[in-house]
Amino acid sequence: MDPALAPIFARGVYFPENSVTVNNFRLVQCLAEDFIARGGRLLRERATDVVLGPQGPRELVTEQGRHSIDAIVVAAGAWSRDLARRLGHRVPLDTERGYHIMLPDPGVMPRMPVHIGDHGFVATPLEHGLRFAGTVELGGLQAPPNWERANVLLRHGRSVFPGLREDGADRWMGFRPSFPDSLPVISGSPRTANAYFAFGHGHLGLSFAAITGKIVADLASGRSSGFDLAPYRIDRW
Ligand SMILES: Cc1cc2nc3c(=O)[nH]c(=O)nc-3n(C[C@H](O)[C@H](O)[C@H](O)COP(=O)(O)OP(=O)(O)OC[C@H]3O[C@@H](n4cnc5c(N)ncnc54)[C@H](O)[C@@H]3O)c2cc1C
Repeated sequence: MDPALAPIFARGVYFPENSVTVNNFRLVQCLAEDFIARGGRLLRERATDVVLGPQGPRELVTEQGRHSIDAIVVAAGAWSRDLARRLGHRVPLDTERGYHIMLPDPGVMPRMPVHIGDHGFVATPLEHGLRFAGTVELGGLQAPPNWERANVLLRHGRSVFPGLREDGADRWMGFRPSFPDSLPVISGSPRTANAYFAFGHGHLGLSFAAITGKIVADLASGRSSGFDLAPYRIDRW
């Protein structure tokens, strides 16, 4: 089925309806461009605090200044905990760090993403190369990356893809925002009007980004999303 794979597998499971993006960074860039084209304004500033008034959030304080606001969505991934606390909510958010190795000119390409169960990583054919991604490291937000974890992915990749070319290999570490119950927070604030939360999607934040955005838009507009959102409340602990 996939001639790129070494003949070392006794069996596999085929998921024909699995979806994949060919370039996750470009996807996010295109979404940002679309947001701007529709009149959105993108500011690259680190938010540090929220000033509350009687109607809810009034000002967003950033390292660059202050912005007048009438609503806020906290969607800062693994860094959301402090901003949630400023709005009165303590959440047990942690990070499951993961690694990837990108090979821009791998010489071999699988036909579709392949999850190598024995070694717990995924090989994904992208428009700019072959990506091996996986591993879970409970290392918090501050510790430096342990690049040996990315090198391990490459070692396993060699055993799966004979003839792999490794020139220009690029290593990366990312922070999966995760809760102990493996569910995200998608919620309005029970304490503050016009404050919303969307974070903690763990291993599936890209997959669930679009539906999360739609649900948050429904919440902020007072529309029903049609889902029971109780499992995702910010005050469930
Ligand atoms: C190795 C690896 C492989 C993965 N593979 C997949 C996969 O195949 N499919 C899938 O669905 N998911 C996958 N994920 C998970 C996915 O990457 C995350 O779930 C997703 O990125 C979380 O999205 P987010 O928007 O909540 O957070 P992020 O993507 O982390 O975005 C948060 C943003 O908030 C910004 N920010 C933080 N603090 C502040 C602040 N104070 N002020 C302003 N901005 C701030 C950050 O700079 C960042 O841009 C993978 C993760 C890793 C590490």
